[in-house]
Amino acid sequence: MQIQIQDLSMTYPSGKQALQRLDLDLTSPSLVGLLGPNGAGKSTLMKLLVAALMPTEGSILVDGAPLNKVEGKLKASLGYLPQDFGLFEELTVTQFLDYMAALKGVLRSPQAAIRDVIRAVNLEEKARARIRTLSGGQRQRVGIAQALLGDPPFLIFDEPTVGLDPEERIHFRNLFSRTAQDRLVLLSTHIIEDVQSVCDRLVVIHHGQIRFTGTPEQ
Ligand code: ADP
Repeated sequence: MQIQIQDLSMTYPSGKQALQRLDLDLTSPSLVGLLGPNGAGKSTLMKLLVAALMPTEGSILVDGAPLNKVEGKLKASLGYLPQDFGLFEELTVTQFLDYMAALKGVLRSPQAAIRDVIRAVNLEEKARARIRTLSGGQRQRVGIAQALLGDPPFLIFDEPTVGLDPEERIHFRNLFSRTAQDRLVLLSTHIIEDVQSVCDRLVVIHHGQIRFTGTPEQ
């Protein structure tokens, strides 16, 4: 999978220009870290990539085709963890993932798929717990688990390590790097340690502009 971002700008109806003339190529497999302070434009870029927002200028090409022509196909191959992800408080972790698996059309052995993602995020002991009883970090893990359901080839995680403690952060860095071995994974963060050791590539964004792309060593 290849994503080409060309001369992309986004101005919200309020007049706020969140992104200014971005050019970026993303190629599978890789783990790309999008690094920038709060308000830099990371979430806006991710929402444009999942076609939840339309750019005011420029284009996004998916394997050479304009995003608006292949939107359905892209969404079917996408796992997305938005920043403000809502969970159903009264469901158990397994019930919630079962619901998400149905929504995502995971038809082939959904129970096994749910067990796999619960294991991947290290939440086996909470599989039967109600979501309202979970800590912030455990909720974040449920959010990551739902993105992994159905084994999508393109994963977008918006600030996935928010609310995680230092030990959990390390676990997730390893999970992301394993996941990206045969996929395209884009994750945003404002914490450099989250991305410097595991990402193949870093994209630094500030005030809606790309300031740097390259390897963490660079
Ligand atoms: P980040 O994810 O890096 O914190 P965002 O993409 O959320 O940054 O925001 C980039 C800029 O766009 C910020 O100045 C933010 O206040 C503004 N912004 C985000 N969403 C909206 C919106 N719906 N309407 C107007 N401005 C917005």
